[in-house]
Amino acid sequence: FDASKGFAAQAPVLEGWTHVYSGKVRDLYEPQDEQAFPDAVLVVASDRISAYDHVLSSTIPDKGRVLTQLSLWWFEQLSVPNHVLGTTVEDGVPAEVVGRAMVCRRLEMYPVECIARGYLTGSGLAEYREHGTVCAIRLPEGLEDGSRLPEAVFTPSAKAEVGEHDENITYEDVTGMVGDDAAARLRDLTLAIYREAEGIARERGIILADTKVEFGLDPVTGEITLGDEVLTPDSSRFWDASTWEPGRAQPSFDKQYVRDWLTSAESGWDRSSGDEPPALPADVVERTRARYVEAYERLTGRAFA
Ligand code: ATP
Ligand code: MG
Repeated sequence: FDASKGFAAQAPVLEGWTHVYSGKVRDLYEPQDEQAFPDAVLVVASDRISAYDHVLSSTIPDKGRVLTQLSLWWFEQLSVPNHVLGTTVEDGVPAEVVGRAMVCRRLEMYPVECIARGYLTGSGLAEYREHGTVCAIRLPEGLEDGSRLPEAVFTPSAKAEVGEHDENITYEDVTGMVGDDAAARLRDLTLAIYREAEGIARERGIILADTKVEFGLDPVTGEITLGDEVLTPDSSRFWDASTWEPGRAQPSFDKQYVRDWLTSAESGWDRSSGDEPPALPADVVERTRARYVEAYERLTGRAFA
């Protein structure tokens, strides 16, 4: 791991913690004092935003805090065991990242993006239009972009390198990767999370169209445990229930302004060119920030401090 390269270079230096990895949005640290924090990892959410498989040069103020606070709220609502150990300075979180960081159990992550879909869109819709299936699961005929599925389905994908598109895989593929027992558990937990969360979101007038979760094995308890972030606008498609209308693309809760601007003539960016997207104008940044905060406030019923 080369911490001097790319957006990893933006990860803050934190006393007591060694930076070991940066994903598109999160920075991971290991404790320097392993005895004080056995089997722990510090997960810090940045304000980075990605779109069309690029991490943008612009950041969205407060996004890291929104993602972290929303994840923590969901972890409390869900009945599935999760990786969170602590969130305060007393728990070991460095003061400068309090609010957007969690001390977590260091899990042995499964290399599977566990996705549940209750509605058809995105890569699921693309496969359905070509083959009538999603991840080899046959669906009824006549479904459109945004259609509700008869029941939620488990549609796993394999994690791609930064800049690459994750690839849909079949349930059989998952059993080949992690074994029969773990595959069944991953599927059942993912669908249980979707059903629980879908009901909670619906009460708030929000459709949870699909969501991605990641699990790992807890080396201490031996249990398959929910890791990473959960049910945020980055990992899930939230739609406004009052404007949902199958047969067209549904406006996305979070990145709509970013996507609209990047693909507009004004940005001057050609998505197929392979070039890095340009910096976002201030009003697109501000409206996107407001969308993330709105998602937090509508889902949790709390004001974002
Ligand atoms: P995306 O999720 O958008 O595909 P990414 O996977 O590149 O992006 P981030 O989500 O930014 O990366 O980084 C989080 C990383 O930390 C992921 O690789 C995730 O698997 C890993 N991770 C999350 N929780 C834990 C944990 N408790 N123990 C070990 N690794 C974890
Ligand atoms: Mg991730």
